[in-house]
Amino acid sequence: MNFSQDELERYQRHFALENVGTEGQQRIKKGKVLVVGAGGLGSPILYYLGAAGVGTLGVVDGDLVDCSNLQRQILHNMERLGQEKAFSAKQTIEQLNPNVKVDAYVEKITENNIEKIAAPYDIVVDAVDNFQTRFVLSDYCVKAGKPFVHGGVLAWGGQAMTYLPHQNQACYRCIYESVPAPDEVPDCKKNGLLCTVPGIIGSVEAMEVLRILVGQAPMYAGKLFTFDGKTGQTRVVKLPQKSSVCPVCSKTDS
Ligand SMILES: [Zn+2]
Repeated sequence: MNFSQDELERYQRHFALENVGTEGQQRIKKGKVLVVGAGGLGSPILYYLGAAGVGTLGVVDGDLVDCSNLQRQILHNMERLGQEKAFSAKQTIEQLNPNVKVDAYVEKITENNIEKIAAPYDIVVDAVDNFQTRFVLSDYCVKAGKPFVHGGVLAWGGQAMTYLPHQNQACYRCIYESVPAPDEVPDCKKNGLLCTVPGIIGSVEAMEVLRILVGQAPMYAGKLFTFDGKTGQTRVVKLPQKSSVCPVCSKTDS
């Protein structure tokens, strides 16, 4: 795979970088990554994966850009108020890096459409704001044998973890078991969210994707990374191996 003059200039810092270089950049260029959510987490994830030159990016979001999004969802702007977030994201990334192909899906991911939407992609990234969709993504990745990069944020903190198939790792459902009842879930609308928190967690998720693409082990495969922006503390907790009673991964060779 050859690089154009634009790409040779654009990716110079990657070409010069140990463990990336020309070969790593080619792998990034061949990458096909689905980012579900074009909001607070999706913004840094799509920005960085687009800037990095991931060849094909899928972006799924069924919502429209609202003024209350702009405090943290930096893909969008005032001119895009009322537009579909997926198309706004596509426009921003294509303006940043025309070498990247962006496929926009104005849909909400469900059990019924995940297989069709995610089929062309090698890695699925969680940038959603609800447990229900997150379980759909995780269950799909376990069954399809694809890496799943999870991130979640609330108020002053957040977390990230990466699931790799065929490594006996706990899947998202092993850890959280089932979708909690709506009144058990704290949400960002009620509890607030400092705008930089999704910036930090989303950047961690983008880094996990790039590591997978260039052939480096993810930082948080089988581990949970947590960040508390109130205290400045970060933690990495090793997760247990996959559960023998998990209704999803115990039935696969994952
Ligand atoms: Zn499981």
